[in-house]
Amino acid sequence: MERQQEFVLRTLEERDIRFVRLWFTDVLGTLKSVSVAPAELESAFDEGIGFDGSAVEGFARVYESDMVAMPDPTTFQVFPFEGTGIGESARIFCDIVTPDGAPSWADPRHVLRRALSRAADKGFTFYTHPEIEFFLFETQLGAQGQPIPVDDGGYFDHTTHAVARDFRRQAILSLERIGISVEFSHHEVAPGQQEIDLRYADALATADNIMTFRHVVKEVATSAGVHASFMPKPFTDQPGSGMHTHMSLFEGEHNAFHDPVDEIKLSKTGKAFIAGLLRHAPEYTAITNQWVNSYKRLFPMPLANQVTESPAYVCWGHRNRSALVRVPAYGKPNSARVELRSLDSAANPYLAFAVLLGAGLKGIEEGYELPPGTEDDVWSLSDRERRAAGYRQLPANLAEAIDAMSESELVAEVLGEHVFDFFLKNKQAEWDEYRRQVTAYELNRYRDL
Ligand code: GLU
Ligand code: MG
Ligand code: MG
Repeated sequence: MERQQEFVLRTLEERDIRFVRLWFTDVLGTLKSVSVAPAELESAFDEGIGFDGSAVEGFARVYESDMVAMPDPTTFQVFPFEGTGIGESARIFCDIVTPDGAPSWADPRHVLRRALSRAADKGFTFYTHPEIEFFLFETQLGAQGQPIPVDDGGYFDHTTHAVARDFRRQAILSLERIGISVEFSHHEVAPGQQEIDLRYADALATADNIMTFRHVVKEVATSAGVHASFMPKPFTDQPGSGMHTHMSLFEGEHNAFHDPVDEIKLSKTGKAFIAGLLRHAPEYTAITNQWVNSYKRLFPMPLANQVTESPAYVCWGHRNRSALVRVPAYGKPNSARVELRSLDSAANPYLAFAVLLGAGLKGIEEGYELPPGTEDDVWSLSDRERRAAGYRQLPANLAEAIDAMSESELVAEVLGEHVFDFFLKNKQAEWDEYRRQVTAYELNRYRDL
């Protein structure tokens, strides 16, 4: 730690950096930032930087609102592309503590740290690898206020519109320059839709990387004169933006999900982890899919003439892209992993990874049996066939997700009481506000009654 702090301070001086942004994330996954002069940073490493927690979503009740941001020097990063003529800037992620130095229960980073340390007690390190989908829109809105995609390209299209291609190249270069490795990128199915996949890393680094990714992608889009959106489902008749996440547990150098003699090369640990993800899915869906709009994406039917490839039923499969959990085919033992397909691009990654790890570990601890997999297209079965096969539906809307979460001991335990209560109240308010809206759909349909 000392050495890392020294490295940070020396770098600031050598590169003549005038601004350091201290970053943290609120409970709903919004990035918060406060800039300090480099001279302040030395004391910030020791004492932190105070801020008014009551002004930040989910942080504190008014009477205990003083909070302190403690910079984590291991996350220091110079942002070379943000030179504004007054030198480069840099950022550091912070852990949030109370004035007496105890970790804040409202800090999503702390929620994830705690979940990871539970896994570490059992000898596991948790790795994640997200496939992040998002849209590029024109900055002008269409006639009815709807967004306009920058191109009409489709899956893997190459030369659809110069903006998307140059944009991806620029975004990836910017990400790599700040140490975030990108594995794949391509045009996704919907017009204007892009996907960029990050290389796997431990879950805390991945969550930090996702927060940085969203910021960088938005900045690069703005410079290109377009708008990047992580909204889960902007168009009724086009696929939404998922953040499928591949997960694995390692014991030291060994991938605990790998079993060379198993039929699908998946160990007992891997199977119990999936069983945990399946059993607790309705309970954690409010966290992985936290907005009213998220549930328009998890709709249980293929779009007209289109595959949605987003899940709506609780089941798992090997090649099946309608399943909630997929076990991808892989070659090397160390790439054994499971892919969760419900998570969307507008989730809080810290909380999402914490609940997913919690559900998977519960499966391992309790020795949950993995139900048989399915290679059926679950969308095309009838309700009766689905019921017979035991596939539950994911919560159909935010209200159902809140209900399932409010009954969940597991999610309460992983999030801690403070985040659990705040989140449920906040989401209930969102649902109530949504529920009273009279929409354009209703006016069209019922105006003449
Ligand atoms: N866009 C799809 C979703 O919402 C995923 C497409 C894919 O398989 O990458 O989950
Ligand atoms: Mg995709
Ligand atoms: Mg995928």
